[in-house]
This record gives sequence, structure tokens and C-alpha cells, in this order.
Amino acid sequence: MTNPTRVLLVEDDELDRLITGDLLDDSADAAYEVTMVATLDDALNLLTTEDYDVCLVDYYLGPDSGIDLIDSARRNGVRVPFIVLTGSADREVDVAAMEAGAADFVPKTGLDSRVLDRSIRYACQHASLVARIEEQAETDALTGLANRASLSTRTSEALSRLGRTGGCVAILYLDLDGFKRVNDTHGHSVGDELLVEVASRLRRTCRGHDAICRIGGDEFALLAAFGDDGHSAYLMAERIVHEVAGPVTLSSGTHEITCSVGVSVCFDADTEVEALIWQADLAMYEAKSAGRNRVALFCDEMRKAVVDRIELERDLLDSLDKGLLHQVYQPIFRLSDRSIVGFEALARWMHPTRGVVSPEDFVKIAEESGAISQLGRWSIETACEAISAWPDNEGRPSFCGVNISVAELGGGSLCDFIEDVLDRTGVPAQRLTLEITEAAMMSDDDALKDLVTLRELGVGISIDDFGTGYSSLSRIHQLPLSSLKLDRSFVWSLAQPGISDIVNTVQALVNSLGVESIAEGIETEAQLGFLLRAGYSMGQGYLVSPPVSAAEAAAMLERSR
Ligand code: C2E
Ligand code: CA
Ligand code: CA
Repeated sequence: MTNPTRVLLVEDDELDRLITGDLLDDSADAAYEVTMVATLDDALNLLTTEDYDVCLVDYYLGPDSGIDLIDSARRNGVRVPFIVLTGSADREVDVAAMEAGAADFVPKTGLDSRVLDRSIRYACQHASLVARIEEQAETDALTGLANRASLSTRTSEALSRLGRTGGCVAILYLDLDGFKRVNDTHGHSVGDELLVEVASRLRRTCRGHDAICRIGGDEFALLAAFGDDGHSAYLMAERIVHEVAGPVTLSSGTHEITCSVGVSVCFDADTEVEALIWQADLAMYEAKSAGRNRVALFCDEMRKAVVDRIELERDLLDSLDKGLLHQVYQPIFRLSDRSIVGFEALARWMHPTRGVVSPEDFVKIAEESGAISQLGRWSIETACEAISAWPDNEGRPSFCGVNISVAELGGGSLCDFIEDVLDRTGVPAQRLTLEITEAAMMSDDDALKDLVTLRELGVGISIDDFGTGYSSLSRIHQLPLSSLKLDRSFVWSLAQPGISDIVNTVQALVNSLGVESIAEGIETEAQLGFLLRAGYSMGQGYLVSPPVSAAEAAAMLERSR
């Protein structure tokens, strides 16, 4: 025997309630288990806590209407089919009921068991079909978990319930640490196995009514409601980090895996779904940058930092477009007689409202936002224009170093640009030097190709901040270098034990490479004296001059003729 169909009957008129109840009891074809309530609130309470197969609701419910119940129920994630009953056979009521998403509409006048049976059967069949289709559309095919679309719907439902239940709704945003490595080294099918295993670990850790979703790639999200101030959400996230971590045995062998989880908690039913998910995502990045395999809770500072960042990014692009950046030039001099041999071009940005932004900050923003190629081209072009106005130092033309990010290299387009600028400004390639940090030069073959092309053109190539990055000495010999800039941190700590050995070793390397050496950040006579004795040929620093304007740079060259 099949289970009885569970019916919730919502009817405020006592007589009608009894009549409809009797009709259901008298059915010859079906068995019903009927629960009766008289008000919208009672009905909503039962619908959100109990399971029913169908809900029969009177169109007129005292101050409310059956349509109000359907609306509130849907907003709370109740998926039961509704059949609207009404005393009148009014066509408008019919249309309103169907528009609200009722499965059927039955006039109470002349109602009999057969009509009710048929309507209920139809509504249930229709509902299960819809449920199957919805389930497919909301399921991640690989893991069988809910998908991204489903996370949004469920979150919005959970937020609606928040108004009545109190407590909080939390999103736990989870990203596997090092998934890409497994995927790249062992292939996608092993990556898939790993994701399936993580899904099953998550299922084991979570409670039945939490929604577990795969957002895409190796990102998962959990949606859960708690009765407290969010502390439980944090504890749950810690439990997940603990449960997900640990060796996983896959067809390729055993792998160690960990995850980072960001948590956002919300108490306000009016919060926007996407905002809540975004906050959890942001907190997840915080967990990653704090060292992975841990939990981070979203806080308002994170939002402020991001908003701030986005604004600065936009302002930087805007300032570049409007030509609001300018360049200064710091002399590079011969250590022996302090005569100026060249300059380093340094970008300056006076933000319209914030004042001076340090190049360290805005170069990082440019690198991360993609504006770096625009900044780089502007730097090269501006420097070349300055050089073209500088006096030619009687056969010893001064050069200008321009800082370049490795992100700008590769694919040859920067080479074309530089050739074009040199052509346009009439600056010989020998007067332009590109400064690139050592870590950047070491790692990228495409970038290296571009450097070789540029060096062949006559452009100088200098390793910037030498000694601070990761150097592979065998690789340095393959780089098309013209000079090497000793990082200022060494110059400043010459007095410390061991540092002078390093400085001497770097100079020995410079000799063996047959390139020039430039020591940065020289502030004292003692530093200059030491570097001179160690064999360095050139230097840069406040001892001789801070960065100056293009006109002042030209005047300095004029004076030294
Ligand atoms: P960097 O290439 O190492 O530039 C040298 C930095 O040291 C400059 O700081 C310069 O003003 C400073 N400096 C020079 N001599 C002394 C000294 O004696 N004492 C002290 N304390 N500092 C000295 P700045 O101008 O703030 O630039 C910082 C960094 O920003 C640069 O480091 C460079 O990596 C980057 N940068 C600047 N302009 C550009 C640009 O146009 N493009 C790119 N990609 N990066 C740039
Ligand atoms: Ca530099
Ligand atoms: Ca430097």
C-alpha cells in the first residue's frame, strides 16, 4: 500500500473546512492524511517545518488571501503545490491564483471527491516533474552537489526565513589549496576524483539541512542557518578545514590536500544574496593570503579595502588617460668623480584628492589590474621625450633607465612599441635602459625572448634590486644584460657582518659577466668609499642627488659639460 498523500488544508471558514475535510476522507480512489489550519501564519509555520504533498488553500483567508500565502511560502523556499479553493467562480480570482504559481484552481460550489482527487493528483504529478527538472538544473553533474545557481536561490530563501526565525544565515566559501597542481600534474580525471572526494567529506561534515554547493572549479560553498551570533558558523568552518585536510588516495596515488574557508554571516533579511556570497569569497582570499589551511571571517575592513582598491585602480587609469602622472629623474653617477652618466626615470602620481601615492603602491595596483602596460608605455615614451631634449655629453651620451614589469614583456608587442618610440623621438637605442627585477627575468622564457630582441636593438638591460630576488647563477649568464643594480638594502647595511662579503661577491659576478654595476641608495660618504674600493663603477642615491625634474636634469648635464 502506498503512503497516504499529506494534505495541508488552509481554510478560515469552519463549515467549509469540515466539508472539504469530509470530501477528502470520503475519497474512494486515494488516501489522505489531512492537517487543517485557519490562518496564514499557522499555515506558513507548518509549511516551513513539515513536509506536505499538497496544500489546499481558500482564496479568502480573513484579512489575507490565499495568494499571499503562496507568495510567502515561495519566498521561504516552500515548493509544495497549491490548489486554490474559492466560493466564487470568478475568472479574475482564477487568473490571480495561476499567476501566483498555484497548480490548480477549484470552485467550492458543487465540489465533489472526484474533482478534488483529480486536481490533487494532477498537482502532485506536475510538482514532481517540476522538482525533477529544477533539481537537474540546480545540480553539479560531477559531484551531485547543488550548483552556483542553486546557491543563490537557497540563500535568498534562507534570508527570507531569517525575518521569522531570528539567528543568522552564514555562507562558508571554500577553496582547495594546491588543487591546480594536482590537476596540472596528474590530469583532469584525477582532479575530478579529488573533487568528488572533497564533496563526500563535506557531506559527512555538514548537517542534513545545510546546502552544500560546488560553485565551479575547486570552489565550494555551504549555506547554513544558526540560532546564535555566528560563532557556530565559525566553528563549523574550522571543522570543515579539519575534515577536508588529510591524505586522499586517488588513482594516481596519495595526495595531501587542505582548504581555505571564508565565512560571511548575516542577520538582516534584506541583505543582498550576491553581496553575502561576495563577502565570503573575499574572506576566503584573506584566509589564503594568511597562509591557507585556515578560516577567515569577513569583516568590514575587507570591504573597505576592496572598495578603496577599486577606486584607486579606476583613478589611476583615469589619471593615465588625462596625463596627470609625471616623471622625475634621479642621477646615476660615476663613483670615482661623481660625474653624471645617466638617470633613472621614476613615476610620480599626485592623486586629485588623496595627494601623493607612492610608486610602490600604484605600480602594484597597475600590475594587478592590467594597467601596467599602459603605465609602462607611458614611462618609456615620457623618458624618451626627456632624453631627446638632454644635451649630448660630447661622445658620452647620458642614458636613462626605465622601470619595467615582467608582465609587460612577452609576445613582442613592447619591442615594437619601443622601436617605434625611439624612431619617433630620434633617441638612439643605446640611451635607453630597461630595469627589470631579477626574479621576473629568471622565470619567463617569453619575456627573455623579448629582452634578447631589445638588446640586439641596442637597448640596455639592467637587473634591478639585485640580490633581493631569487637568483639562479647559471641562468644569469644567459640573460642579455648590460648592467646590474645592487639593491639599496645592501648599501644600507654594509656595516653588518657578512654584508660586505655579499657586496664583494656581487662585484666579482659583475666582472665575470662583463657588465656594469650600479649601487643604489648611496646616502653617506662611507658607503660611497666602501663601494668604490669594492670595485663598483656607478652609483645612485641622495648623497649626490634625489630625483629631479626633466628640466633640472638637463641643467645638471649642461653644467657638467
Ligand atoms: P627602484 O627601481 O628600486 O627605484 C629606486 C627607489 O629608491 C626610488 O623610489 C628612489 O627615489 C629611491 N632612492 C634613490 N636613492 C635613494 C637614497 O639614497 N635613499 C633612499 N631612502 N631612497 C632612495 P621611488 O621613486 O619611490 O620608487 C619606488 C619603486 O617604484 C621603484 O624602485 C620602482 O620599482 C617602482 N617604480 C617607480 N617608477 C616606476 C615606473 O615608471 N614603472 C614601474 N614599473 N615601476 C616604477
Ligand atoms: Ca629601478
Ligand atoms: Ca632598484
